[in-house]
Amino acid sequence: MSNSGKVEALIPRCLFSIENSDNLNVDCEDLSSVSISWENGFVTELKPLKTKNKKPNNILFPRFIEAHSHIDKSFTWDEFPNLRSNYDGALSINLQEHKTRNTKKVLERAEKSLNLAIKNGYRAIRSHIDTYQHQGNDVWAELFKLQKKYSSKLQLQFVALCPLEFWQTENGRNLAKNFSTNKGILGGVVVPPFKKKETIKLLSEMLLLADKYKLEIDLHIDESTTEPGAGLKVLLEVIDKLNIQVPITCSHLSSILLLKEKEILDLGKKIADKNIKVVALPLTNFWLLNHKSNTTSLERPVAPIKELQKSLVDVSIGSDNVQDPWFPFGNFDPFYMMSCTMPMLQLNPWERMTLSSIFLAPSRLLNLKWDGLIKKGCPADFVIVDAQRWADVFSSNLKRKVFIKGDLHR
Ligand SMILES: [Zn+2]
Repeated sequence: MSNSGKVEALIPRCLFSIENSDNLNVDCEDLSSVSISWENGFVTELKPLKTKNKKPNNILFPRFIEAHSHIDKSFTWDEFPNLRSNYDGALSINLQEHKTRNTKKVLERAEKSLNLAIKNGYRAIRSHIDTYQHQGNDVWAELFKLQKKYSSKLQLQFVALCPLEFWQTENGRNLAKNFSTNKGILGGVVVPPFKKKETIKLLSEMLLLADKYKLEIDLHIDESTTEPGAGLKVLLEVIDKLNIQVPITCSHLSSILLLKEKEILDLGKKIADKNIKVVALPLTNFWLLNHKSNTTSLERPVAPIKELQKSLVDVSIGSDNVQDPWFPFGNFDPFYMMSCTMPMLQLNPWERMTLSSIFLAPSRLLNLKWDGLIKKGCPADFVIVDAQRWADVFSSNLKRKVFIKGDLHR
């Protein structure tokens, strides 16, 4: 059977669950030697490998999930480079790109992104899609067709990224109504400087709209070096006032890093209490924020993952932009993201909380059927790399095989 197989591999201990863990070998980097079999696309057996002296030469990961991307603008760097590499430059060049975009261009970029993502090992992606008031909404019908077209290989979720004002317009309300059938997510940007009163009003209306159609919200919030946590504080105020239960994701949440540790932990508790999920985006934050041309700035805020996790917030790590005005590099490759992120943020790959933010939290964020833990009965959705230790994973020329429902993807 083509969708069946068996392999001896190392799996990070926190990424699998096993019925009988007697005789399980776990090395000092938390990699365990196991034998794994699958039939008809599902794992049928997972057992410890007894041979103590022979270490498998593969590491097996569950297929990855991208918690935050922008497939509508990826690969536009060549035409729209942001050579100053700062936030304001990215924003203005993004607007220039917007004047030239049409449905065909967006679909071409999206398909290129999805094909690469599948090849590199992703099983699901949440993508924000630029949305403006004076823009036809034809692109949405095509995007939902694309979602269906790729659904056997990759689950795709869309967030309409627009100014908060959009959700007050007729177009905005119609799109929200459309999303109640197509399961889209309401997006927006809350980055200082902003008018507090006006922002409270706009956020309140957005939350009420989401509540009306039972939708989620995913905000680009506090992607900034000024007014630490200003957007988050306003959001928490609005949620308290309205007292409604709308699932909310805070993407970026960078500037709170500049607060004192106690304040970060206190805000973290409030975020966890409201069940708000956070997506940390270190690549774009490190690239754009506080960019100085003549000095080497290390003050580049990114969501304080460790403090938030300590406050019991569910934090995912995402890649954000790929080869567009916001970020010139990347290739929809989870190993590129991990290779950059781990040394940047001093995250140990042998620790459960690190891998949880890459594999398990994103699965909860996207509400996926499979939590991402390898176990008997789970989908045979793997990325198997030629490696015996983490150093092999984060070196160049990584050889990988991607299995989708038990079949090797070619
Ligand atoms: Zn983004």
